[in-house]
Amino acid sequence: MFIAHDLAVVRHMADRVAVMYLGKIAEIGAGEDLYGEPGHPYTRVLLSAIPVPDPEVRRERKRNILQGDPPSPADPPPGCRFHTRCHLADDTCRRVEPGLEERAGLRQLAACHHAGP
Ligand code: SF4
Repeated sequence: MFIAHDLAVVRHMADRVAVMYLGKIAEIGAGEDLYGEPGHPYTRVLLSAIPVPDPEVRRERKRNILQGDPPSPADPPPGCRFHTRCHLADDTCRRVEPGLEERAGLRQLAACHHAGP
């Protein structure tokens, strides 16, 4: 097992990848699936933060910036743990914790009510 914060490094080290947020798995699957078609909003944020050496690609690229600070893992928010920072959060997200499940259009498992390619 290899644990890191840098998904660029993880990509070269692991065939199977799990992304965690506040102590729970947000998304897990084969690296090629997770990097090729991330389904969880937090995974997309992390992937968009990977530095790109090509200046033209960098200019075209859309970055997702997280707002606010992470809540305390000792007192996580109800519902989805990521809802306080997620731009897709709705009332269901604030009330119901999403399970780590298969989601339409994805080959990996994702803990998100609105996960998708
Ligand atoms: S369940 Fe809702 S708040 Fe949580 S990651 Fe998915 S869209 Fe965002």
